[in-house]
Amino acid sequence: MTHAGSDVAVMRERRYRVRCGPETFPKKAGELLEMAGWSSPGELSLPQLLNRAVGAAAEGETPVLLRQLRDTCSDFKKGPALSGSVSSEVRGLYCQQAGLRRARVGVTRTRPALFTRSHGDTMEANAYDVIVIGGGISGLSAAKLLMESGLNPVVLEARDRVGGRTYTVQNKQTKWVDLGGAYIGPTQNRILRLAKQYGVQTYKVNEQESLVHHVKGKSYPYKGSFPPVWNPLALLDYNNLWRTMDKMGMEIPKEAPWRAPHAEEWDKMTMQELFKKVCWTSVARRFATLFVNVNVTSEPHEVSALWFLWYVKQCGGTMRIFSTTNGGQERKFVGGSSQISECMARELGDRVKLDSAVYSIDQTGDMVLVKTLHEDTYKAKYVILAIPPGLNLKIHFKPELPPIRNQLIHRVPMGSVIKCMVYYRENFWRKKGYCGSMVIEDEEAPIGLTLDDTKPDGTVPAIMGKKRICEIYARVLGSDDALHQTVMNFTFFL
Ligand SMILES: Cc1cc2nc3c(=O)[nH]c(=O)nc-3n(C[C@H](O)[C@H](O)[C@H](O)COP(=O)(O)OP(=O)(O)OC[C@H]3O[C@@H](n4cnc5c(N)ncnc54)[C@H](O)[C@@H]3O)c2cc1C
Repeated sequence: MTHAGSDVAVMRERRYRVRCGPETFPKKAGELLEMAGWSSPGELSLPQLLNRAVGAAAEGETPVLLRQLRDTCSDFKKGPALSGSVSSEVRGLYCQQAGLRRARVGVTRTRPALFTRSHGDTMEANAYDVIVIGGGISGLSAAKLLMESGLNPVVLEARDRVGGRTYTVQNKQTKWVDLGGAYIGPTQNRILRLAKQYGVQTYKVNEQESLVHHVKGKSYPYKGSFPPVWNPLALLDYNNLWRTMDKMGMEIPKEAPWRAPHAEEWDKMTMQELFKKVCWTSVARRFATLFVNVNVTSEPHEVSALWFLWYVKQCGGTMRIFSTTNGGQERKFVGGSSQISECMARELGDRVKLDSAVYSIDQTGDMVLVKTLHEDTYKAKYVILAIPPGLNLKIHFKPELPPIRNQLIHRVPMGSVIKCMVYYRENFWRKKGYCGSMVIEDEEAPIGLTLDDTKPDGTVPAIMGKKRICEIYARVLGSDDALHQTVMNFTFFL
C-alpha cells in the first residue's frame, strides 16, 4: 500500500500543533503502528501516522484502520497525548473522539523554533521540538521525517562529518571508496527510496564469473549463493541448518521479537549453542561460524540466538542475507554511500550541528536539556538517541536510566571488523574466470569473505576484504598477481 498520495493531500491543508503532555505519546504511536501493521514505531510519529491514516481513509483505502484509530483516540480521554504538527482533520477527529475541549488541548498554529538564553549563563539554549543525537543514517532520516511532518528538529553529531558508520573517502587513486557500510540489496527499500529521491545511482556488484570457495587449502569455483557441499551427509546437515534458522525466524515478530513464543529460551541461548544442537557435522558448524562472523562481525558465542535469528529474518532470511545477486550485497552506490547522509544533511540545513558530542541529558524539568562537550545547551520536548546502544554509556543521564536499560547498554558491545580494499593494476581474477567473491574457510586466514570492488565502469580494479590478505588472495586465486597490489585502504571499526 502506498501512502504517498494521501500524504501530499494532507500536507497541503492548514496545519496545527496540538500541545499536550508527553507521557503516553511514544507508547500510543507504537501501539497504533503495530495495530496498523505498518513499519517500526521508531519511524513514524503519532501525528504523522494520524495524518497518513486519515488521508488514506479519505481516499477509501483503509476504513477499518480509521475505525481503529477512532477507537484508539478515545483512549486518550484520560491524558492528552498528541503532540506535533497535525492536519485540521486529525485535530478535529482527535478532539471529537477524546471528548476534549479545544481550550484544554491548547491548539496553536505551527511556529518556528524559539531561540532563548539559558538562565544567567552566556550559552545560548536552543529550543527545538525534537533533539536527534547522532548524525548517521538513522538520526538524519528521523530528523528528515520530523521536518517533513512540520516539526523543528535539530541533529547533534559528535564528529566533523555526517554519515557515522557509512564513510566514503575520495582521492585520486581510488576515485571514491566506502570504508564503512556500502552494500545494499532488495530488502533495504527505505535507503533505496532515499537514493532514488536524491538521484544517487546504484550499480551491481560483479558476480558474472565464478565465486571461489577455499577450504582445507584448496579452491573450488562455484556459482550461486552458498558454496556447494559434496558429502551427502554434510549437504543434508547444511540444508537442515538453513531451514531451521529460517523456520525459527518465522516465529519471531519483526516489530517485537520479545513476543516470539520461545523468546526467552532463544535469548538465553547463544548461536554457538544453537549450532551445537542443530548441526551434526563439523563442516556445517564451521560454515555456520563463518556465517555469523561475516554477517554481524561477531563470534557465535557472543550473540543471542533470538537476536541473530531476528536480524537474519529482517534481512530476508539466510539465503538473501548471504547472497550478492538478489541479496544483501547486490548493489553499491555510484560515488559512495555517504552521499545519502550528505543529501539529508543538506536538506536539514543548519539544523545539523557537527562537532557536537553530547555528554549530558537532563530530563528532570519540563523540557529535556541536552549538553554538548562545547557546553552548548539545547532543549526540546523529545530526544531521539540515534547512536549505537553501547555509546549511551558515554552520556550522563539525569535521572539515571531505568536499571534494565542500564544493564542492556552494558551488554551490547559493537562488533569488530577491519575492512580493507586492495587495488590492482588489472582485474587478473576476472581473466581467470573468477568474479572476485571468495568464501574462505581457514582458521589461519585473516579474512572470511571478499567481493569485487572494481568501479562500475571497470576502472580501479579492487577486491574488498580484510587484512593480511594479499597472501591469502594469491593462495585462493592461484595467482602471484595478487601479491602486487597498487594501493590498500583500511578501516578499523571496533
Ligand atoms: C565496516 C562496516 C561495514 C558495513 N557494511 C554494511 C553494508 O555493506 N551494508 C549495510 O547495510 N550495513 C553495513 N554496515 C552497517 C551500517 O553501516 C550501519 O548499520 C549504519 O551505518 C548505522 O547507522 P546509524 O545511523 O544507526 O548509526 P551510526 O552510523 O553509528 O551513527 C551514529 C552517529 O552518532 C554519532 N554519535 C555517537 N555518540 C554521540 C554523542 N554522544 N553525541 C553526538 N553524536 C554521537 C556518531 O559519531 C555517528 O555519526 C557496516 C558497518 C561497518 C562498520
